[in-house]
Amino acid sequence: MKDFIRDFAVCPICQKEFSFDKVASTSIKVSSYDLDLKPEYRDINVSLYSLVTCPHCYFTFQEKDKDYIYEYLNSQNIEEVKQFLNNINKLSLPEVDNSSSKSHEFYAIQLMIAANIYAILGLPSEVVKILVKFAWYYREQNEEEKELGILYYCGKIIEKNYETFSEEDYIFSLFYLGYINYRLNNRKEAARLFDYLLKNYNNPANPYLKAAKFLRGELK
Ligand SMILES: [Zn+2]
Repeated sequence: MKDFIRDFAVCPICQKEFSFDKVASTSIKVSSYDLDLKPEYRDINVSLYSLVTCPHCYFTFQEKDKDYIYEYLNSQNIEEVKQFLNNINKLSLPEVDNSSSKSHEFYAIQLMIAANIYAILGLPSEVVKILVKFAWYYREQNEEEKELGILYYCGKIIEKNYETFSEEDYIFSLFYLGYINYRLNNRKEAARLFDYLLKNYNNPANPYLKAAKFLRGELK
């Protein structure tokens, strides 16, 4: 069985087609989860392949959004995205790599570009998901200060926008806000957020509510 499948996308900004490698579902193996449900992958770091970048213009999006990304674009934000891509193109970015041998360094650049693009598209809940992966990236590199910096910034975006999120993203984001406060040693605020979630939502199948319950116990 092959670990990677070659797929294709058409860039919604420059209309050019390009290929990327994605992990075959049979090769996604999780050995454990951190307290914030960051998966610890056994063989292949699946997160690395969750973002794809157009090799012609650097437009970067989440692979899961491949078939929907057009729907988020309109004549106004396309211009803003183009402006942003023009500006970063002037920085000396490394060559685009969507292959199975993608480097960690290029993945970090993809995270930075994607977070900016989804912010331009007015999708703060997706910006949060990308920043969480950025924090995971620094955790894997053992760069705690940078990880906490990203988490702090992510918390600010959640505080500003969570009331507009869908219920699924609302629970995910409030759990994360609790986790961020836990990591930043604001134990009282973390406990308050977990209590709020556990009091208002009762879905034993939701992994974030389970994780909130566990972390709430740690705060006693
Ligand atoms: Zn493009």
